[in-house]
Amino acid sequence: MSRQRPGWDTYFMRIADAASERSTCLRRSVGAVLAKERRILATGYNGAPEGLPHCLDVGCLMVDGHCVRTLHAEQNALLQAAAHGVSTEGATIYVTSEPCLQCTKMLLNARVRRIVYRDEYADALARALRAEAGIRCERVEDSDPETHGVGEDDGQSGRDEAGAPSET
Ligand SMILES: [Zn+2]
Ligand SMILES: [Zn+2]
Repeated sequence: MSRQRPGWDTYFMRIADAASERSTCLRRSVGAVLAKERRILATGYNGAPEGLPHCLDVGCLMVDGHCVRTLHAEQNALLQAAAHGVSTEGATIYVTSEPCLQCTKMLLNARVRRIVYRDEYADALARALRAEAGIRCERVEDSDPETHGVGEDDGQSGRDEAGAPSET
């Protein structure tokens, strides 16, 4: 009897997917999970800042083809961490969609060290900036059991039960 467990990257990406379902923007639904040492630090999805109406209720606020009402999923995850005093130093962010230029810059200064995304969002400048800054950035497919997430801090699965991080 075999049961396939998802790898860590898949696991966190699925949680990012769940977060994206909370999005309040009509244009895009994006979810993000900030994680470190196999633990979730914060989550986010794209939506209006607190106290402002949702795109779902009043329509998107369009400027130059983009909805500018929302904070992006990555930004909301970073801000949630900030609001609760959680350090994002050395964290990995899982995002359902490739980060834009602004989010890329914020992630760099929040000292996130690895970006994992699934859907491509071609922003040449953001990509160039990430490459120049040397931040790890990887695209993963959805639902790919045990083929991802066995990188830096994982001894190939099996004994890596949740709650027992083996970080050095
Ligand atoms: Zn919107
Ligand atoms: Zn963004």
